[in-house]
Amino acid sequence: MKACELRRFPFFTRIATMGVMASNQTDIAVIGAGVVGLSCAIRLREAGRRVTVFAERRTPNTTSDKSGAIFSPFRMPGQAAALEWTRASHAAFAELAATRSVESGVTFGPMREFFRAPVDGDPWWAGIVRDYERLRDVPAPYADVLRAVLPKIIVRRYIQWLESRFIQELHGRIEDGRVSSFDAVFARGFDTIINCTGVGAAALRRVRIGRCLARPRRLPRRARSMI
Ligand SMILES: Cc1cc2nc3c(=O)[nH]c(=O)nc-3n(C[C@H](O)[C@H](O)[C@H](O)COP(=O)(O)OP(=O)(O)OC[C@H]3O[C@@H](n4cnc5c(N)ncnc54)[C@H](O)[C@@H]3O)c2cc1C
Repeated sequence: MKACELRRFPFFTRIATMGVMASNQTDIAVIGAGVVGLSCAIRLREAGRRVTVFAERRTPNTTSDKSGAIFSPFRMPGQAAALEWTRASHAAFAELAATRSVESGVTFGPMREFFRAPVDGDPWWAGIVRDYERLRDVPAPYADVLRAVLPKIIVRRYIQWLESRFIQELHGRIEDGRVSSFDAVFARGFDTIINCTGVGAAALRRVRIGRCLARPRRLPRRARSMI
């Protein structure tokens, strides 16, 4: 058997559980149109909030479009929040696979993870996923193999579907272009900013003071929300 070592990314285990923390009356800016930004924007629109997405790049040119989209809770610690995220995300993907599989690109299929060192007990997520088992026949040089039926996502189709769901079904707005500072967005009248800029997040958090870049200790100002 050819061993497939799954890369372990936590993101696709968490995506369906984005919290909605802004009040009903606020104008919300979501910065970023990758999987995180679009998922946030959709959940906010579904909750009846006014949302504008700002994005320098859109599908198919985001990092999210390039990801393997493997649903893998393997690296997250088994804390209560992680358990809840994983359970809710799994349920959300199960619903998509059952109801909108073709458009969203979400299906379920068996995945195996191969471990070089023995795994101590069953992992914390074993009770959430479908058909979890430890394989008895473990090929050398591995010590353990875990198998489960997990969401499989055709990622580019999924991101395109998120974008079209946000714009066409939920009548959300996307403005193309780079955001250079949070203050510029607040100055447009938005009360709440949700920063979903992926690896760009660190750069955006810095503000220019004179000729230097600095990380402000406290953002935002004037009773606005930054998430
Ligand atoms: C090769 C590869 C394989 C991967 N495989 C997996 C996997 O199997 N499972 C998994 O869970 N994860 C995987 N990942 C990780 C996953 O892709 C990322 O965690 C996820 O895509 C991050 O999504 P995001 O929306 O936060 O960021 P991005 O997809 O990077 O989106 C960021 C958005 O913010 C915008 N932006 C950034 N800065 C600004 C700015 N200043 N102004 C305006 N817009 C801005 C960008 O243009 C873009 O629209 C993989 C990553 C790579 C590279």
